[in-house]
Parts: sequence; structure tokens; C-alpha cells
Amino acid sequence: MRLVLLGPPGAGKGTQAKILVDSYSIPQLSTGDMLRAAIADKTPLGLEAKAIVDRGDLVSDDIVSGIISDRMDQADCANGFILDGFPRTIAQAESLTHMLDRKGLHLDAVVEIKADPDTLVSRVINRAKESGGARADDNEEVLRKRLDVYKEQTAPLVTFYTEQGLLKSVDGMAPIDEVTAAIKAAIE
Ligand code: ADP
Repeated sequence: MRLVLLGPPGAGKGTQAKILVDSYSIPQLSTGDMLRAAIADKTPLGLEAKAIVDRGDLVSDDIVSGIISDRMDQADCANGFILDGFPRTIAQAESLTHMLDRKGLHLDAVVEIKADPDTLVSRVINRAKESGGARADDNEEVLRKRLDVYKEQTAPLVTFYTEQGLLKSVDGMAPIDEVTAAIKAAIE
């Protein structure tokens, strides 16, 4: 199963991805996690990405497409994967289509987790408190920036994948287990 989870920051993509990883025994490919790991390790990629991620902007399409393409070639992706945080722009979605074509693969579904922006702000502020400020981009100002970037650059993917017949939408405001059930019902 090859899935994309789409949704604004704080919608619960990461939470749902981790549950689906266990249900389907396929890995979660989170560009956010990969970038944060590169930043923590101070790799050349991490050094380049840090300022961009910290201010809530998007890292270049070529960089994230490259890390995702390499990651998909690893053995644990043989039976599928859950993309979380990629694609985030139309250019990344087109790049994903091409990389899957080259690998002889295709997406099974794109799941949009819908959420209301006001709730997202309080969820992310809570996450910041609970994690003791582990994420430099989880403060209100940067979050508002990330929500704007989502609206401008990522939301157009809803139309893009609807046109391809791949989009399934679920209500991300429901309790976690209900969201999971809705996702499973949509993709199975
Ligand atoms: P969110 O909680 O907003 O879903 P993520 O953990 O997915 O956040 O990503 C955090 C940050 O990492 C983004 O704000 C962005 O700077 C960078 N990033 C993650 N994925 C991508 C991507 N596909 N393209 C460009 N930048 C990305």
C-alpha cells in the first residue's frame, strides 16, 4: 500500500501515520522528521535546511524529492509506505509521479485530513508545551506562517489528486481512533 497523508500542520498526519505503520507493516516517510534528523546531526543538508525550517518556509522541492526518492529505494519500502509531509507543492507532486513511474510504482490513495485552523493553533501550542519546546517551529508566529504556506502551496494538491481520482477526505477533528477508522474505511 502506497499512501499520501495530506493536511495542515497539527491535523494529525504524524499521529495517524504511526498507527497505520503498525496496521499495515509499512514505514512512515516523514520529510519533517528526516529534515529534523539532518538538522540535529548537522549534516550539510541539515545546515542548509535549518534556517528555512525554523522560520516555517519550505525547503527546496529538489532537496526533499531527492531524499524521498532515495528513501523509497530502501528494502523496508518494498511493500509500500506512508508519505507524511511530502508532497507539499504541485512541483513535488509532479516529481513524485515521475519518481514512482521510474520505479514502476503508483499511489493507492491520498488521504486528506481536514482540520479547522483555529483548533490547529491550540493543538500545536499544546504540542510545544508538552514537548518542552523540542521543535523550534512550534510557536504561534511560525505556526501561522506554516498555515499560510499550507493554504498557498499545499492545499492546491487537493484538486490535483481529486482530478487523478486518488483523493479521500476524512474529518481530522474527530477523536484519534475515529479518524483512524475513517482512513481505513476510505482506503480498504
Ligand atoms: P507539520 O507539523 O507542519 O506538518 P513537518 O514536520 O511535516 O511539519 O515539517 C516541518 C518543516 O519541515 C516544514 O515547515 C518545512 O520547513 C520542512 N518540510 C517538511 N516537508 C517538506 C517538504 N515536502 N517540502 C519542503 N519543506 C518541507
